[in-house]
Amino acid sequence: MSQILVVGSLAYDSIQTPAGKAPKTLGGSANYFSLAASLLSKVRVVGVVGDDYAQEDYQLLEKRDVDLSGLEKVKGKTFHWEGYYEGTLNEAKTLKTDLNVFEHFNPKLPASFKDSQFVFLANIAPELQLQVLSQVDKPKFVGMDTMNFWISSKKSALLDVLKKVNVILINEGESQMLTGAANAIAAATEISKMGPEAVVIKRGEYGFVLFHRDHGFFSLPAMTIKDVIDPTGAGDTFAGGFFGTLASMDRRPSFEDMKKACVVGTLLASFTIQDFGVKSLAKVTLNDLRSRRHDYKKIVSFEKDFVEI
Ligand code: AMP
Repeated sequence: MSQILVVGSLAYDSIQTPAGKAPKTLGGSANYFSLAASLLSKVRVVGVVGDDYAQEDYQLLEKRDVDLSGLEKVKGKTFHWEGYYEGTLNEAKTLKTDLNVFEHFNPKLPASFKDSQFVFLANIAPELQLQVLSQVDKPKFVGMDTMNFWISSKKSALLDVLKKVNVILINEGESQMLTGAANAIAAATEISKMGPEAVVIKRGEYGFVLFHRDHGFFSLPAMTIKDVIDPTGAGDTFAGGFFGTLASMDRRPSFEDMKKACVVGTLLASFTIQDFGVKSLAKVTLNDLRSRRHDYKKIVSFEKDFVEI
C-alpha cells in the first residue's frame, strides 16, 4: 500500500444550513480528506494549527493511524472559515475566511515524507501547494483541489499548480469560473488542456463527471440521501475516498482505477453530509461503506437486457 501525502487546511468552521448552526466545529480540507482516505490507505498530513487546536481533534486522526509528524502547531489561531448554504445546498457561500496561522505558514516536509508516492494538494493557497509538491522526491500520482477564493485571488499560481498534477477534483461552479465554460462537460475538457490528464467535476447531489484526456467521460449521480444536514467537506471527503482507493491499488492509476475511485468518493461523501462537520465521517467503518455500496449499486445499475431497444 502506498503512502498518501496531503497538504490542506485544518480548521474550525462556523456553518449555517437550513438544518441548523454549528459554530466553530472541526473542519478543513485536510481533516475531511484524511478521515476518508485513512479508511483505505496510509495518510501523512502537512499543515498548521494554532494553540487553540483541541487535543481531541488531533486524536481523531491519530485513531485512524494518520501520521501527524508534518503538522505544525504555532502560536496563534487555527484557520477559521464561516459559511452558509441555502436552497439546494449545492453551493457554499463564504461569509469570512480567517487564514490566521496559515498566513505565515512555510511548510517544510519531514524527511520521512519525501518518498510519498501519492500526493494530494487539498484546498489551500496555491503557493503552499507548490511549496509542498517541490519537496516530494518523485511522486507517482499527484492531485489537487481548489476553490473560488483562490481562483479569484491567486489565479496565476493556481495555473502553475495545474501544470504539475495528474488530476484535479473541482466543484462544478468553480470549474466554470476557472474556464468560463457554460457546463461541466465543457469545463472538464478545457481544464484538461491546462495540464492534468484527468479532471473530476463534483456536482453536489447530481454526482460527478470524470474526464480523461485519452479515455473520455464517466459520470454517475450522488447517493440518494434525503436529509442533508451539512454539505461542508463533501468534496474533500470525495477526494479522500478517491485517493485512498488509488493508493491502496499501489500502481500508476488507470482510467478504470479512477472510475472505481470516483465511486468510493461518492459513497464516502454521502456519509459526510448526514451531520455537521466531520461528525458522521469520523464514525464511518469499512462495513458501513460496504453496505452503502450495496444500496448504491441497486440505484445506479441495471442489467443490459432491462431496456430493450
Ligand atoms: P468542501 O465543502 O469539501 O469544498 O470543503 C469545505 C472545507 O474547506 C471547510 O472545512 C473549510 O474549512 C475549508 N475551506 C474553506 N475555505 C477555504 C480556503 N480558502 N482555503 C482552504 N480551506 C478552506
